[in-house]
Amino acid sequence: MSTTPPNKPARVFCIANQKGGVGKTTTAINLAAGLATHGRRVLLVDLDPQGNATMGSGIDKSSLESNLYQVLIGDTTIANARVRSEVGGYDVLPANRELAGAEIDLVQMEERERQLKAAIDTVADDYDFVLIDCPPTLSLLTLNGLAAAHGVIIPMQCEYFALEGLSDLVNTIKRVHRNINPELRVIGLLRVMFDARMTLQQQVSAQLEAHFGDKVFSTIVPRNVRLAEAPSHGLPGVVYDRASRGAQAYISFGAEMIERVKTLSS
Ligand code: ADP
Ligand code: MG
Repeated sequence: MSTTPPNKPARVFCIANQKGGVGKTTTAINLAAGLATHGRRVLLVDLDPQGNATMGSGIDKSSLESNLYQVLIGDTTIANARVRSEVGGYDVLPANRELAGAEIDLVQMEERERQLKAAIDTVADDYDFVLIDCPPTLSLLTLNGLAAAHGVIIPMQCEYFALEGLSDLVNTIKRVHRNINPELRVIGLLRVMFDARMTLQQQVSAQLEAHFGDKVFSTIVPRNVRLAEAPSHGLPGVVYDRASRGAQAYISFGAEMIERVKTLSS
């Protein structure tokens, strides 16, 4: 008789970059959907009050019974607030503008950076992966994300100034590692919105590999209009047009992450 090994608790990853519009949310949604196509159980946590990860997963942010805000202030649990993305094949801990108020409420709480971690711990056995879509700020919300995570995935465009500003994020990650969460590390840099026809992007991409070695994921996500169109249909790009180059890249990235976590000590 074969026995299946017991499931390990979820590995938790932040998708972070303090720049806006670099592809964090697109990566969070499509990595969630990509991992789901590989049979993994995923919770996508929408840590951005804009609620884009929520909407892009086909969940209406304006008609939520409860959301991440109530979880963070201790009014409800993730088990109560999570919603199934039927289209994506994963669960979502949704958010909307209410979440912006959490900053103020959290400041007055004890263990204010650890509220999200405490909440995720209660459902860690339900999932293989928890992905946290961070806002483009180094706020108390982002700090909660970093405190809850085993690692950070940093999506970036291969532009001339891509590395500028990354140092603030890296310093924050180091600080959180030292003071709050010794498990935290950079898992990798993900090249997104890549246009291979542009020489500059090729050059920056090569520089990233030279500087950061295997901290650069081998998957490269191309600029692909299907990924940009998908949210207006309430669908992950991976589901909206699975054959598209963008979708295929995120499905490959899911496979790369599944391999990568095997190399992380538990
Ligand atoms: P962030 O969460 O970092 O602000 P988004 O994921 O919302 O960034 O992406 C910013 C914009 O770029 C969105 O309109 C999104 O649809 C688009 N976009 C993201 N990734 C790609 C891609 N690979 N190809 C084309 N458009 C993309
Ligand atoms: Mg976003």
